[in-house]
Amino acid sequence: MGLTPSAAHPSVLSIDKVMKQAADAAPRFKKTDPTKKAEFLEAIASNIEELGDALITCAQKETHLPVARLQSERSRTCSQLRQFAVMVREGSWVEASIDSAQPERKPAPKPDLRKMLIPLGPVVVFGASNFPFAYSTAGGDTASALAAGCPVIVKAHPAHPETSSRVAGCIILAAEKTGMPTFVFQHVTDTSVESGQALVMHPFTRAVGFTGSFAGGKALFDLANSRKVPIPVFAEMSSVNPVCILPQALKEDVVAIAARVAVSITNDMGQFCTKPGLQIVPDNEDLVRYVKLLAEAVSKVGPVPMLHEGIAANFYKRKKESLDVQGVKLEAASVVPSSSLLGFPGIASVTASDFIAHLTLHKEVFGPWSLLIRCKDKTEMLQVIDTLEGQLTASIFGTTADLTANSEIIESMSNLAGRIILNGVPTGVEVCPSLVHGGPFPASTDSRFTAVGVPAVKRFVRPQCFQNFPDELLPVELKDKNPKGIWRMEDGEFKRF
Ligand code: NAP
Repeated sequence: MGLTPSAAHPSVLSIDKVMKQAADAAPRFKKTDPTKKAEFLEAIASNIEELGDALITCAQKETHLPVARLQSERSRTCSQLRQFAVMVREGSWVEASIDSAQPERKPAPKPDLRKMLIPLGPVVVFGASNFPFAYSTAGGDTASALAAGCPVIVKAHPAHPETSSRVAGCIILAAEKTGMPTFVFQHVTDTSVESGQALVMHPFTRAVGFTGSFAGGKALFDLANSRKVPIPVFAEMSSVNPVCILPQALKEDVVAIAARVAVSITNDMGQFCTKPGLQIVPDNEDLVRYVKLLAEAVSKVGPVPMLHEGIAANFYKRKKESLDVQGVKLEAASVVPSSSLLGFPGIASVTASDFIAHLTLHKEVFGPWSLLIRCKDKTEMLQVIDTLEGQLTASIFGTTADLTANSEIIESMSNLAGRIILNGVPTGVEVCPSLVHGGPFPASTDSRFTAVGVPAVKRFVRPQCFQNFPDELLPVELKDKNPKGIWRMEDGEFKRF
């Protein structure tokens, strides 16, 4: 099968027309049988796979990411789509709940009340430059919004427009093949900031999924809240992902920890939202060895092309801002690059007091950079952790004795982040229902939800209660006989049949 983007791409249409088309598709898509929706999601995955090496070559050209990384990201994207298909087909995710009527109840009769999750309506999705597949056109936001039953409008990322168009073609063809309502998915290829803002402001937009920078996410969040009718913006933004290394682990496992952290900082030029940007470490003689090992390891990497010149320029700017802060010492940096696209890794260190005093050091430097915060004792470690903002992840390296003696550090680190990791690095996000990819602001705009794994569907639905509805007017999930055989809460008991 030769897949090409549909000739009727809506990029040439006005945002108003796009949103009217999405609003028109919404009620029909809401009523589409879950089995058909599951087939749609599976067909998207198959179509992406059918594009084969040509898609990888295109993404490689646009993003400069290595082929092996792009292949594994494509697999993850297709696996995500299939996980949502399984969830939709099974059906219990709608959280159906039934409280039967009690007409004889005294002093007042109890009405029949039934509840389930229903789709919000058209969702606008903004992808990120660093994940051309998994956080872009057919990525987690699109998959979860479609699974919820919401039409999706993707604004193509300006850093990988051709990749985005080819993946959009896969979605449009899958919709046609599986009989989805027309305009269940639309791709806006006008990548201007204005078109993105118009999508957020359009009265038919019901929610926004965003993955990207803090500046972009916060701007769109503020815009959505300034609307006459505010809408939720689920923005996954910046995180510095602190790693705390406890004293005994540093002494006993210094070689292994340095090797793992170095890879986590430099892999794909550190262009991961979960890259360890801060390390909270004890200032002792073991640290000298750790810094030496880490410096040697990161200095062997690069220079390697970054995603685009804007990302590279921002990396150098933010790195310089860190190095300009009083007390920040450069510990390692490989050769200075010869082109404005090339990135090269570096690490620096600072005392806890200087770190606490300078807020610019608390912010993300997107790229292969990590700052070690030298702490005199546990009290200083806790003071540093207390000054940090919300995070996607927080990692602790510790022996059993370390962890027993430092329960306050575990507690404080846990309060910061959506995912807390013991004796591991934050990069490498497993896609499964127990994963949480989100966290307190500014990691995301709503820490109650994850952007990865099938529970991400919850961002694009709302609960609706049906009071005193006759069986024939109820959605199938709430009918007396439970024709779909889904798990439901019936008068306080979980039941399937
Ligand atoms: P970005 O510059 O914020 O761009 C993301 C998208 O938002 C683009 O389509 C961009 O379009 C649009 N956008 C940005 N600001 C806007 C505004 N004010 N109005 C309208 N549209 C706007 O982010 P990026 O450079 O692609 O990605 C790198 C960042 O993403 C890093 O900070 C990284 O940590 C973060 N990230 C986070 C996660 C996570 O899950 N938390 C995952 C991956 C990446 P224009 O370019 O046209 O403005």
